[in-house]
Amino acid sequence: MGIEFLQMKKKRNGASISSSSSDEDVSLCFTPEPLHKMAPARLHGELSYLKLTPNALQYNGFPFLGPNSAVIPQTKNNMRDFVASDDLLRKCSRCSKDFYLNQDGTMAPQKCVYHHRKKFDHAKRSFVRTCCSAHPSTSSGGCMVEDYHVFNSAWEDTLWSFMPTPSAKNANDYRSKKVYGLDCELVHTMNGLEVARVSLVDMKGRVILDTFVLPQYEIVSLNTAFSGITEKDLSAAITFEACRLQLFQFINSETLLVGHSLESDLKALRLIHHNVIDTSVLFMSVDQRGEFKKLSLQNLAVIYLQKEIQTQKTGHSSVEDSMTCLELIALRHSTTVK
Ligand SMILES: [Zn+2]
Ligand SMILES: [Zn+2]
Repeated sequence: MGIEFLQMKKKRNGASISSSSSDEDVSLCFTPEPLHKMAPARLHGELSYLKLTPNALQYNGFPFLGPNSAVIPQTKNNMRDFVASDDLLRKCSRCSKDFYLNQDGTMAPQKCVYHHRKKFDHAKRSFVRTCCSAHPSTSSGGCMVEDYHVFNSAWEDTLWSFMPTPSAKNANDYRSKKVYGLDCELVHTMNGLEVARVSLVDMKGRVILDTFVLPQYEIVSLNTAFSGITEKDLSAAITFEACRLQLFQFINSETLLVGHSLESDLKALRLIHHNVIDTSVLFMSVDQRGEFKKLSLQNLAVIYLQKEIQTQKTGHSSVEDSMTCLELIALRHSTTVK
């Protein structure tokens, strides 16, 4: 619905290209076809100019295929995403404390005291806490207490379980010329962040796939406030292997996937895929020091689409997030083709 709205707005703003010198002559006007009405193959071609280049994939830490396993190019944020089997140091992604796993890779209970991450409130033009009234600049202490820390680092041997999305079976492979929004919800396990829900949506606003996935390692926290994942959801979940097979019913290596910081989703899905459009890269902003900065999808939705997402008390929805990515792409395209 949002995409349709953008297209209507674009038309009202006069996106038509007239080959006539007279503005009155509308018979020769060319109005670009709205993306949501385009045939899949045309849409795929139309948006391919927004794809990340090989350099951008590298710079943003997308997984590549190495000689024996996946290789993740290092960025300043992903240095400890995959750690060696004798490296037991972990950093809690909630309270930022460093701690060690036991020698056997298990974790002893340790109090984790934290606040939820602060969020930018556009009405107040400042950061706010969503958990309590503590001042957003307070970095110590917290209003929430859990018995275990959570961490993002996975064991290095996980890189062996990565696989490239399948090649096209032939020139007519129905998956090749498709464009989908992809988003995953992740939960904390003893192997870092694992996928617990995957959603695939198309430009017409249809949900192509939306399934819950069982993590492979022991769950430390479902992170329900952010992931929206509950115990009940996981009782209906499919296995990780089945999830990848379901995805491969719809995508192959040629499919154009749209997402926000899609490298995180691909890493959680243990997939190597290079035909991607990433809204976190396309809509980067420059901060006061002149450095490029990625904005959250929530902030992009407010700034560019004038809509609030991720407002549900029950956490994020990967369907809502992937739809929002497609709306952002429709907006970017409408301003580019004017
Ligand atoms: Zn902690
Ligand atoms: Zn708090």
